[in-house]
Amino acid sequence: DCLLALESSCDETAAAVCTLEGELISSRIATQIAIHRQYGGVVPEVASRNHILHVRLLVEEVLAEAGQTPRDMAAFAATSGPGLVSSLLIGTSMAKALAIAESKPFIAVNHMEGHLLSPFMSGNGPVRPCVALIVSGGHTMLVRVHGVGRYELLGRTRDDAAGEAFDKVAKMVGLHYPGGPEIDKLSTRGDPKAFDFPRSFLDGRSLEFSFSGLKTAVLYELPRLDLKNEQVLADLSASVQAAIVEVLVEKLVLAARQCGEKLVTVSGGVSCNKGLRAALSARCAKAGLQLLLARPDLCTDNAGMIGFAAAQRFSTGHTSPLEADVDPNLPLIN
Ligand code: ATP
Ligand code: MG
Ligand code: FE
Repeated sequence: DCLLALESSCDETAAAVCTLEGELISSRIATQIAIHRQYGGVVPEVASRNHILHVRLLVEEVLAEAGQTPRDMAAFAATSGPGLVSSLLIGTSMAKALAIAESKPFIAVNHMEGHLLSPFMSGNGPVRPCVALIVSGGHTMLVRVHGVGRYELLGRTRDDAAGEAFDKVAKMVGLHYPGGPEIDKLSTRGDPKAFDFPRSFLDGRSLEFSFSGLKTAVLYELPRLDLKNEQVLADLSASVQAAIVEVLVEKLVLAARQCGEKLVTVSGGVSCNKGLRAALSARCAKAGLQLLLARPDLCTDNAGMIGFAAAQRFSTGHTSPLEADVDPNLPLIN
């Protein structure tokens, strides 16, 4: 038996079919990156219109690829928050409509739980206790996972999220939106020691993050830089990335130590970052920690992770009322 999952919290419209055990059968993403790039960021009104244009076709495609019809689905899931209200409404309305038409349950999924559990997909399950780092466009969180739905917040960012730090610095130096992947690419050709950007560890034992100082440091550096020089841009990128990566890696190891936990996971769009993945592998091996990373195509927004989270919840009998509203600020941990 399978369920259909939809994701439309921001600027990607996505649909997936997965089994009730959480195995991914088919998955499609219609990204709007090229559309929003001309504005330098996501325009909510434009995003929701494009979700409307894409969602139905995506549903048809993932069902066809799975060789199934809406009637075969055991449940219909969609992201209900956090995200842009007008975007969230498209996915949830579609999932609810299908649930009503087929007289099957609706499952509202927290987008951040989707990210959080994604490292346990693709054969890495079952979900088990760990210390999890979520690094995305809007969030940077360290979470202690006791089991599905049993989460404890260890620390989060006081200002910018890690992805936001990548994106804002990238914008300052004239790179395309979203800047994270651009900085990742440029970094491979740059010297991470070219600039000594601040690493904000706060007090040594804090599990909170702060990335706004990095932005300011880059801003002060700008007038002295020739950004038309490819090597300068690559060196700057590598140095910015190294500063962000070092803090993320060290705080994750610190959190695991403080909790006495041997398994750590990392998810969210920034966990695609090649420098971060390499640094995590090396550091965790040295610290004797087992590391689970989300598969690169499951790091940024996708419906597969929403289906996986829905399947975990559904297997314990959890469903959502059709009256369940979307919530732009839906918390992962109350
Ligand atoms: P949230 O999940 O917090 O609601 P979001 O859904 O917008 O926010 P994601 O889709 O998980 O976030 O991730 C997008 C972010 O990941 C962007 O900030 C983007 O720059 C960043 N990102 C994507 N790929 C990379 C990369 N290779 N290196 C660094 N950052 C990256
Ligand atoms: Mg996105
Ligand atoms: Fe996300």
